[in-house]
Amino acid sequence: MKGLVNRSFLSALREQPRSWPRCGLADRPAVPYAQNPGNVAGMSQLNIAIIGAGIAGLTAARALQGFGFKPVVYEQAPVLGEVGAGLTVSPNATHVLNAIGLEGALERIGMCPERGGVKHWKTGELLVEISRGNEMREKYGAAYYQVHRADLHRELADLVVTTDEQAIRTNHSFKGLEQDSDGVTLFFEKGHSARADVVIGADGVRSRVREQLFGKDTPRFTGYMAFRGLVPFAHLPAGTIEPSSCLSTGPGRSFTRYLIRGGSLVNFVGLTERDDWREEGWSIRATIKEMLDEYSGWYEGVRTIIAATPPDGLFKWALFDREPLPEWTRGRVTLIGDAAHPMLPFLGQGAAMGIEDGMVVARAFAAADSVDEALRRYVEARLPRANWVMLESRKTALNYHSGREENFKPGKHVSAESLGLMAYNPAAVPV
Ligand SMILES: Cc1cc2nc3c(=O)[nH]c(=O)nc-3n(C[C@H](O)[C@H](O)[C@H](O)COP(=O)(O)OP(=O)(O)OC[C@H]3O[C@@H](n4cnc5c(N)ncnc54)[C@H](O)[C@@H]3O)c2cc1C
Repeated sequence: MKGLVNRSFLSALREQPRSWPRCGLADRPAVPYAQNPGNVAGMSQLNIAIIGAGIAGLTAARALQGFGFKPVVYEQAPVLGEVGAGLTVSPNATHVLNAIGLEGALERIGMCPERGGVKHWKTGELLVEISRGNEMREKYGAAYYQVHRADLHRELADLVVTTDEQAIRTNHSFKGLEQDSDGVTLFFEKGHSARADVVIGADGVRSRVREQLFGKDTPRFTGYMAFRGLVPFAHLPAGTIEPSSCLSTGPGRSFTRYLIRGGSLVNFVGLTERDDWREEGWSIRATIKEMLDEYSGWYEGVRTIIAATPPDGLFKWALFDREPLPEWTRGRVTLIGDAAHPMLPFLGQGAAMGIEDGMVVARAFAAADSVDEALRRYVEARLPRANWVMLESRKTALNYHSGREENFKPGKHVSAESLGLMAYNPAAVPV
């Protein structure tokens, strides 16, 4: 199938190694997070500013607090509210959230599916079965969760503010920065400014911090778009949500659905291809007819879920990404999360990579004797992995939407787990 995806973004895939490059720091002692809180010697007075209170920025803030730092997070939104829908927290990210104090919260807000699977787009036949639940816990030492983004975001924000009630400054839209030999001056819309020793840009896919560091590089529309909806479980016929976490792939389309909020809601994301659409935002309404038309010919289970979506509960957005950066730091300023490596959602690793960054950047500051050293340790430990996952997400997009039979063969299906991404503990890897 020809497909509508932006072919220019495929060129980088030619150089892609088969597995993610280890960071080459194995000679450094890997001091796990839990074993050295407060051990930050002369660096503890460092004034660290984080731009953006998303999942990555808040994880970094909390991990830094765990070492005795007092970071300040500047967020453009006037209030931190209920936005987004489902997110996957795979074991590589769960390690971090457990270490920073969210273990109980994850058990409360997260669904930990026992089984997952891959279904054929047309027949609905379950062709690949995936064990999750306890098997994941035993294999990786941390569970696999599916959560509402708003719930995880709230828990993280509460934890950060409980530790330091001044830590998050809302209504601070970052505009620009100036660096000198002692630090960084931050400028915000509405005329505020602030001073910091170090700045971590966690301001998402349209990062202004990134633009300040590396110049304007407009995110590109990839040719993929996403429909997102939440359906009350009780509105669906018995047996529709079986197994509880499921991916269906077919030519030019895929459809992922799983349970969140104690099983009361079915979260779904339908990924399709378009060449004529550029609207941005997380809250653009879509109609049920529009989505049903996209999924005509698909098995009844998918169409039943789409049709059951409350009319005001279906949204769509275009998927943008950028080329991987060869460096994330300039002087005293670095990037984490989507600001550093926005990625397509096909491996379900976007939030996980930001969470991994948050822990590793904090551990780098705890381990280093200078700002330069900390930022170098962070980038060396994180950039090869995150850039690899970014490109691998593009490959997976092509693979899933190719309609190839390979996707339905047990042992051949590509996923974050088959790529080895879950066997990584950011709270203990060498930094
Ligand atoms: C509103 C919203 C809803 C989302 N919903 C989903 C979802 O349903 N499912 C899913 O898989 N992913 C969702 N995501 C994306 C997902 O959270 C991220 O891809 C991933 O968690 C990486 O997080 P991040 O912290 O790097 O970036 P983001 O989550 O994008 O967070 C960036 C933060 O920076 C703030 N910010 C941006 N610019 C500035 C500025 N100039 N000054 C100050 N602050 C700034 C933003 O308001 C935001 O709080 C959503 C993101 C957002 C912002």
